[in-house]
Amino acid sequence: MNLLRGVRTATFLALVDGTQLALIEMPLHAKFVRPFNCDDVKKILSQIPDDMLVGLRRIALLGGTSRQEKSAWSDDWRYGCYGYGCVTLFAYPARRKIWSSANLHKPAEIHAYQRAGVEISHENRNWVYKFTDESIRRFYLWDVLVHEIGHHVDRDHPDRSIKRSERFAEWFAKTYGFEAEQNRAPKSAIR
Ligand SMILES: [Zn+2]
Repeated sequence: MNLLRGVRTATFLALVDGTQLALIEMPLHAKFVRPFNCDDVKKILSQIPDDMLVGLRRIALLGGTSRQEKSAWSDDWRYGCYGYGCVTLFAYPARRKIWSSANLHKPAEIHAYQRAGVEISHENRNWVYKFTDESIRRFYLWDVLVHEIGHHVDRDHPDRSIKRSERFAEWFAKTYGFEAEQNRAPKSAIR
């Protein structure tokens, strides 16, 4: 995938070791939402200890594609990913703003959604998740982004098992994401 094709915005953030972290914002597809931008990402990064960011090369905010839109309901749909110093955040398919499922997600995911303000209710034997722009924004910035940075911090751990590394990233997101938000600068921090 050529991430640099059609780039709309690229800014750079100087890290403590003198290297530059590129922040890239791709044009947004009409069927996707992305209620945050690179400035919001920078504010979140400023709450994470500087040395943890060293080695990060790129954070890309993708804009969605027709192909991704078609797989909006597939099991392997993802919010973000990390690899080789690069964090990628996928835009959110607009039609996923309300989704209904017979099963609840696992507790760690439910808690993350609730912290972000996603409304979860039980209607007609299904669990219904309702996302607003504000809860999508909070979820991506304080949970997904910080979770993926957690994978970066954890990148040299000898035990590469998915279970251990996901548990670490979830802990990292909780500690440096929402808990940091509550302790240091409630709510208005990312505005
Ligand atoms: Zn993860």
